[in-house]
Amino acid sequence: LLQLFIPLNALGFVYREIRQALVNVERLFKLLGDKPAIEDAPDATGLVVDKGEVQFEHIHFAYRPDRPILRDVNFSIPAGHKVAVVGASGAGKSTLARLLFRFYDVDQGAIRIDGQDIRNVSQDSLRSAIGVVPQDTVLFNDTLYRNLAYGRPEATEEEVYRAARMAHLEDFIHSLPEGYGTKVGERGLKLSGGEKQRVAIARVILKNPPLLILDEATASLDSLSEQAILGALNEVSQQRTTLVIAHRLSTIRDANTILVMDGGRIVESGSHKQLLAAGGHYSHLWAQQHSSQKESNDDKKDASD
Ligand code: ADP
Ligand code: MG
Repeated sequence: LLQLFIPLNALGFVYREIRQALVNVERLFKLLGDKPAIEDAPDATGLVVDKGEVQFEHIHFAYRPDRPILRDVNFSIPAGHKVAVVGASGAGKSTLARLLFRFYDVDQGAIRIDGQDIRNVSQDSLRSAIGVVPQDTVLFNDTLYRNLAYGRPEATEEEVYRAARMAHLEDFIHSLPEGYGTKVGERGLKLSGGEKQRVAIARVILKNPPLLILDEATASLDSLSEQAILGALNEVSQQRTTLVIAHRLSTIRDANTILVMDGGRIVESGSHKQLLAAGGHYSHLWAQQHSSQKESNDDKKDASD
């Protein structure tokens, strides 16, 4: 119990420090018309995740009153399903993830997890139920081991090694002279985008949350590393309610439902097959990405046509 208490307490300290720093900029944000910091409702309860269904109910949201970002966004992720969101940069995809994590409150509508409005539950309980593989993973100036264990500070060594293995990090770690003891971060070894993402995946495996957010989780990878990581991500998202935000459509063909966003609205939804057959936004995006992937082949084909 003591072991569990110390690292969590240390994290609490870091969190309070950050909060303190935020209080000072809060006034500035108010002047800029940005949103105030989120606080727990006085009667906030602990989130109870039973099945793990997520509902976005007619969400309207703006960071600043004069610039609406999400307009009547309405969808649900049935328990254990994978819903992918695609669309141009700036369409509002990452905003969905930030709202689910409750970095901001919605202006209209509600987000519910197993029926509970996330504004009525404590932020701690909400955030401990959600694992995130972000676009850019933050590493601490500490050993690789401690960076991995951050996903669940009380994890045993065996569990940390297993998570590293599942995230396809083992060969990389064994190639380092100091292995798990290697110092990483700003003042240590710099990891590539793909390696950092594998650390994030290992953290999520350790955290073992019922809900998962993958935000363009393979965006910074070359296609070979991408294949390796997609395998790991697929394993992690098995049986877990997953919201995946994707740039490369080839990575989300297997999603139960794909939502296409444009200008803060959902303009299309369906399976990969259905959307291709519909011949709308998605099929155009698909054709674009397909042709740029196969550019060299197409060049040859064009030449022979
Ligand atoms: P996507 O992930 O689809 O590229 P985002 O959800 O990150 O798009 O952003 C949607 C829009 O909201 C963008 O126009 C972006 O500039 C704006 N935006 C994102 N974060 C903030 C913020 N903190 N304050 C003001 N505007 C923001
Ligand atoms: Mg984004």
